[in-house]
Amino acid sequence: MNTYLQSDCSNCFGLCCVALPYAKSADFPFSKDSGDPCQNLCSDFRCKIHDQLRDKGFRGCVSYECFGAGQHVSQTLYAGIDWREKPEHASEMFEVFPLVQQLHEMLWYLNQALSLKETKSFHLKLQNLYEETLQLTERKPKDLLKVDIGAHRSNVNDLLLKTSEVYRKDVSKPRNNKKKALDYVGANLKGADLQGINFRGTLLIAANLTHANLRKADLIGADLRDADLRHANLTGALFLTQSQLNSAKGNVHTKIPNYLQRPGHWVE
Ligand code: SF4
Repeated sequence: MNTYLQSDCSNCFGLCCVALPYAKSADFPFSKDSGDPCQNLCSDFRCKIHDQLRDKGFRGCVSYECFGAGQHVSQTLYAGIDWREKPEHASEMFEVFPLVQQLHEMLWYLNQALSLKETKSFHLKLQNLYEETLQLTERKPKDLLKVDIGAHRSNVNDLLLKTSEVYRKDVSKPRNNKKKALDYVGANLKGADLQGINFRGTLLIAANLTHANLRKADLIGADLRDADLRHANLTGALFLTQSQLNSAKGNVHTKIPNYLQRPGHWVE
């Protein structure tokens, strides 16, 4: 995976901890508005409770992923000059950051699609869209704010859907259409054969997926908060991100795709 699509907090101005609002919930112990620095953000832009986020109720921070947008906005678009040093740029920077985050997320998915042999017949289309997306991230902040992200995302989605279809073709089974996505919240799917299933955008919050076979399943946008993945097989899972894994439970026996890392809280 390209390193510029991986978050590097040491080169970021703590943008996710300032620019984004959050509401008191199971994921955050208090609310804050966009533009207000989190009370745990240090003067060097480090988080003072980084190693205790889950224990202190900041699970939303654990499951957030900027896909490298933070360092790109901080170091490239604003040339290493932070929002404290130049407060007149702060509000623009906080508006630009979530847009770049979305574009980097699209790049991350397109990059994975490009790495698959199954997409060979439309590699050129994927590559062109990747380049187009990359160029959007390189625009000046004022021009970035004019980008129609929704329209661009729709173009990207079309190719990601096609990727999913060709990738899962040899293992997918029809999904029970009567079952609504919400039905999987807390569902007992222990030991289920879920190979090649399309879980696109599905809520799998707190689902029991222990010993489940999720090989080649499409998990794009699936909500895996507190899903139990102990002993599950996620080999070759498509569009699964590190933040999704971080938000779930697992153990040393969970098989994960080789492009991801086993979260530190996954113990026996
Ligand atoms: S708790 Fe830490 S990681 Fe979460 S928003 Fe605050 S400073 Fe950032």
